[in-house]
Parts: sequence; C-alpha cells; structure tokens
Amino acid sequence: MTISPVLVAGGGIGGLAAAIGMARKGIRSVVLERDRDFLEIGAGIQLGPNALAVLDRLGAGERVRERLIPVAFLEIRDAVEGGSLVRLDLHGRFLDRFGAGYGVIHRGDLLRSLHEACLESDLIELVPSAEVTSWEEHADHVEAVTADGRGWRGRCLIAADGLHSRFRRDLVGDGDPIPSGHATFRCLIRSELMPEHCRVDGAVLWAGPGCHLVHYPLRDREVYNAVITVHDGSTGEARGEAVDDEPVRHLFDRVGDRARAFLEAGTGWRRWTLRDREPVDTWVKGRIALLGDAAHPMLQYAAQGACMAIEDAAVLADRLAAHDDPETALGDYAAARRERTARVQRLSRWMAAEVYHPGGTAAGRRDAMLLDLTEDRLLEHLNWLYTPLGGNT
Ligand SMILES: Cc1cc2nc3c(=O)[nH]c(=O)nc-3n(C[C@H](O)[C@H](O)[C@H](O)COP(=O)(O)OP(=O)(O)OC[C@H]3O[C@@H](n4cnc5c(N)ncnc54)[C@H](O)[C@@H]3O)c2cc1C
Repeated sequence: MTISPVLVAGGGIGGLAAAIGMARKGIRSVVLERDRDFLEIGAGIQLGPNALAVLDRLGAGERVRERLIPVAFLEIRDAVEGGSLVRLDLHGRFLDRFGAGYGVIHRGDLLRSLHEACLESDLIELVPSAEVTSWEEHADHVEAVTADGRGWRGRCLIAADGLHSRFRRDLVGDGDPIPSGHATFRCLIRSELMPEHCRVDGAVLWAGPGCHLVHYPLRDREVYNAVITVHDGSTGEARGEAVDDEPVRHLFDRVGDRARAFLEAGTGWRRWTLRDREPVDTWVKGRIALLGDAAHPMLQYAAQGACMAIEDAAVLADRLAAHDDPETALGDYAAARRERTARVQRLSRWMAAEVYHPGGTAAGRRDAMLLDLTEDRLLEHLNWLYTPLGGNT
C-alpha cells in the first residue's frame, strides 16, 4: 500500500523548509501554494546560527550560503545622538560558539534556494495557484480542497499559511492577529547612495524614541536593505503599499543627523503594519498542525520569525519520521516547539519596548545597560536563542 503524502498548505519559508525536512526523512509531501509562483519580491531577512545550522542539516545550507552575506557584526546605535551603544563581532568568538554563523539574504534569494532544493527531490510535489479553501478530517486521512475545486488527500496536513492563517481560525479561534501600533517601511538603497558611516558590513539598528531604523547589505553588497519602523498607533492593514518619501521621513523627525542621512538616502518606501499574537497552548487538531507564522507570529524585532519556522520544519520532520501515527507525531512536534517559540514571541515585544523604542529617561537606562555589556555577557544572553537545535534533524 502506498502511504499518502503529507499536505502542506502554504509554500513560504516555513512550508518549503518543511517539505525539504520531510524529504530528508523519506516522507512525501504536496505543497499547495496560493500564489502563482514560490518567489517573493521584497526585502532582506537575517538568519541566525540556529536557522543556518538547520538549513545545513536539511541539505539546503550550501545553496542558501551561496546567496547569503555573512555580515561581520551586529550593532545598535543611538538614533538621536549618533553614537554606538553596543556592537557584537560575528566572526570571532560568536562563530566559535554558535558554529553556523550569522547572515543576511534577500528574501527572494532565500525562497529561490529553498525552491530549488524542493525541485531536486522527487518526494516533493509543488503546486502553485492552489489556495486551500476548505478541508475535512477523516479517521485515517485529511482532504483539502483548493479554490479551483481540486481535491487533495494526505495522511496529515501542515498549515504553513502565515500570519493570517485560515487554518488557525479553526484550530485555535483566537480572532485576528493583534495590531502592534507599529508601521514598518522598507526599501532597497544602492550601495553608492548610502552615507559612508552606514556603508558598513554589518546589520545596524538605530534606536530612537518611538522608532528605529535598520540597514544591512544585500546581493553582493550592491544594495542595502532599509527597514524603518515607527510606533504611530497604526492599526489598519497595510501589506506593502507604496507611499511617498516625504511623509515617511517626517515620521522620523526625532532622529539626529547621522541616522537622518541614512533615512534620506531611501526612496520608494513601502509600508506594512505589524501584528503578532499571544502564545497559545496548542497548534494541533487531530491530523492538522500549524507551523511558522500560522503557529507563533511574532514582531520582527528579534529577527527570528523565519528562523523559528525553519526550526519548526526540522522538528516536524523528525517527529513524523519517528512515529507511524501522525496524530502522535504532530502532538509531539507542537509540545517540543511551544515553549521556545513563545519565549521568542515575548522577547520580540520586549525588544521593541525596552531596547529599540524607549525615549527620555528610559532611553538613558537602556543606554547604560547596553554600554555595560561585555562580549562575554552578550554571548551568554544569546546562548538560548542561537544555539542550534540538538537531535538528528
Ligand atoms: C519587516 C519584517 C522583517 C522581518 N525580518 C525577519 C528577519 O530578519 N529574520 C527572520 O527570521 N524573520 C523575519 N521576519 C519574519 C518572517 O518574515 C516570517 O516569520 C516568515 O516569513 C514566516 O514564514 P511562514 O512560511 O510561516 O509564512 P509566510 O512567509 O507568510 O508564508 C505563508 C505562505 O502561505 C501562502 N498561503 C496563505 N494562505 C494560503 C492558503 N489558504 N492556501 C495556500 N497557500 C496559502 C502564502 O501565499 C505564503 O506563500 C520579518 C518580518 C517582517 C514583517
């Protein structure tokens, strides 16, 4: 008897990584993706050693590393005064300690790398233009129906359908994702247009009152990814709409000259509003499980949403390979992931409030805390987050 495949709803970073992870364990999957292709325009993404180590183990690391920039440092600067508050060298003791390194990559390049790895496997079927609109669970299988009326049968279903997950409504029922009141603007800046003090080989974050600005190099260092965020109370839904440059710059009036020079180099900004959710206890119902942002959406401030989705993928594959019964495997997967991902969700909110956005006396306390951090203490703080997962995934 042929064992039916695992259905994956959503071919983003989490869904493709899950398919690759399962193929490594000899498990067939069918990835149903709503969009016409598996690529994404847009900006950059940072990948910590916890995610890079998983990608290496899944066999996709080499492809990703061909397009990755292994930046030399992470730095937080004061957006008002212009000085450096803390800087972490990523090539010295960081690399010795966490092994897999730290890098930045264009999101399209990351997805392309994962997509290519999927195409190489005859255990993965990729189906574009396949939006899952309904599903039904049976005693020994799951059926999904796509918008075009096609039906798909699998032994279980992984819902990797992102922040606005349709599956989550049914499995968890905790309403819409929660608006953070933050708006983010992104654009790419050609390297020669970056002010010299920003044309550096690191990921730099300028922390200001109620706002922060980030830049790092991408694509052979020919462009810089620019991501600027303001706490302006936004609650509406924006997913990349084009906006005029001048009004965007005005939102950052409080920053000083050095951060402003970077801000003014950016043009063609696009706007997103940011949402997350409270951690919940379960992401599994019978033969259906959530993965990635569908399970544990977080604000981007720890640069870990995609990293967590990649980790989920490895743990999921591990558990599905270890148990014949999918319900046991999915329960085990969620139990293994719950606490860690909840901690990162909470950390992401904390970073905004306590590190990136404080003003006045709170900013003074933040500065004192950061200026006091030695490399030893920083590495110790980051240990739980960046240490790659154990196990045989
Ligand atoms: C500004 C910003 C910066 C970020 N920076 C970082 C960073 O530096 N590092 C990091 O690790 N993370 C970062 N993140 C978070 C990261 O982008 C997400 O956590 C990650 O994309 C989640 O992957 P996913 O596969 O779970 O969901 P998604 O990437 O949202 O993919 C979901 C996929 O499902 C498809 N889909 C949706 N509904 C259906 C359906 N019904 N049927 C079929 N397909 C469907 C969608 O088309 C999409 O392809 C950032 C996020 C933001 C907003």
